[in-house]
Amino acid sequence: MIYLLDDEPEILTLLSDVAESSGLVAHTYTYGQDLLDEVAEFSVDAILMLDLQMPQMDGIEVMRRLVQAQMSPRLILMSGQDIGVLYSAEKLARAHGLEVIASLSKPISIKHFRQVLQEVAISPEVRVLGADHSGGHEIDEAELRHAIGDEQMVLHYQPQFDLASGALTSVEALVRWNHPELGLIFPDRFLPLAERTGAIGELTSWVIEEAVGQAQRWYQDGLPVTVSANISAFDITSLTLPEQLAELLTSTRLDPTRLVLELTESALMGELVTSLDILTRLRLKGIELSIDDFGTGYSSLSQLHRVPFTELKVDRSFIMAMSEDQEARAIVKTCIMLGHELNMKVVGEGVETQRHFDILRDLGCDRGQGYFLSRPAGAEQITKQLQESKDSGHSGW
Ligand code: C2E
Ligand code: MG
Ligand code: MG
Repeated sequence: MIYLLDDEPEILTLLSDVAESSGLVAHTYTYGQDLLDEVAEFSVDAILMLDLQMPQMDGIEVMRRLVQAQMSPRLILMSGQDIGVLYSAEKLARAHGLEVIASLSKPISIKHFRQVLQEVAISPEVRVLGADHSGGHEIDEAELRHAIGDEQMVLHYQPQFDLASGALTSVEALVRWNHPELGLIFPDRFLPLAERTGAIGELTSWVIEEAVGQAQRWYQDGLPVTVSANISAFDITSLTLPEQLAELLTSTRLDPTRLVLELTESALMGELVTSLDILTRLRLKGIELSIDDFGTGYSSLSQLHRVPFTELKVDRSFIMAMSEDQEARAIVKTCIMLGHELNMKVVGEGVETQRHFDILRDLGCDRGQGYFLSRPAGAEQITKQLQESKDSGHSGW
């Protein structure tokens, strides 16, 4: 089910035709208030395509009213204004706890819109929206902590490829919760709870141990791939983290340069002295550091200057917009130049199309990661991919 809200009736007709030809049932509205009056509840998989600029009630207000009414459809945002407006709206939506599937600038490219709808429909990693959407099942701290100790967490791995040679160079570990009743739950549904309650400490330890163990197994099987793991703001307040990691690497005899820790810019917002102490010691122990979702946080440049990062991951919102949007492309190009000037490897996230791939390669980006190249999958399937990549003679590592 897709709900379309735009003050221009012609656009509504066009969009609903495309949505229906993609197999969705479409409802159209020209006024936000009509939609809010009429729709009492959104189903779990409902999508709301929302124009930001509307004369009576604009898209931002619609979002706020949805949140007040505790409704959380997945959003596709659209705007005729510059891309900056779309990004701020996207950030705002996420701050409200709403999922944004895509942001499209107007005039809407029908091809792109169709692609977005297909992506939503065919994702093999079926997303369970969890918590408030799952028959009243609320995840609480006790259940989360139990799950971490009870081996209910699993890691999926998403390959990264060298854009020049096509070699599979590294994989990013992404945590999922294999819930006995709710099925596979994605991190955006339980990380905030884990961070709020401090359970993230245990989760991170589990993730890193599991990822390092897997990296070690791959190494022993003749598939020496670099593994990245994500860490949170909370983790870089624990002064013992570098030693714990060093011990883990020694006991598994894994080369520290095969482990990359990714952290987002906002993770660096807290106690700067402590986090700098920890991050510097991690680097001294040979562990690589990556700045994730680059371009979406705050004070990016001073962070880059202070923290000894070895890798920069350009946020997927820029990659996904750059084929249509000159400003987004300029941002990507600048990030790549900046990363290279600072001796970092640059990774483009969210490579969803051949065109994204081509543009990144032409801009000199080192590596790419995204659905077009390879989706996240369990260790077994990734092992096959690593084996195939090795057999085909790529030696990117
Ligand atoms: P991230 O580190 O930026 O990870 C990339 C996210 O983008 C993953 O979502 C991945 O599935 C998704 N993705 C990959 N390719 C594409 C693409 O082409 N298009 C689109 N639209 N998305 C793509 P996922 O697994 O849901 O993870 C979301 C975020 O949760 C991660 O963002 C990361 O910040 C956090 N996260 C995941 N695992 C862990 C973990 O073990 N610990 C911590 N602290 N955070 C984690
Ligand atoms: Mg990451
Ligand atoms: Mg990222």
